[in-house]
Amino acid sequence: MKVCPKGFLNGPCGGFINGKCETNNNKYCFWIKIFKKLKDNNMLTTFISKYVEPKNNLKQED
Ligand code: SF4
Repeated sequence: MKVCPKGFLNGPCGGFINGKCETNNNKYCFWIKIFKKLKDNNMLTTFISKYVEPKNNLKQED
């Protein structure tokens, strides 16, 4: 499965342009494709109503 080249769990990042990925402008941003697929399947409302905590990369494991 092709995912975000930066490994972002939330997107799109600030670098996408007209829906295209910052790292390769020949490909659509992974998150834009997810958004379009959810919208086309009328699942967008369900998806955005579920809040998921952002990953804290600064938190150290005990
Ligand atoms: S444009 Fe989208 S797929 Fe590309 S690096 Fe940014 S978040 Fe990831």
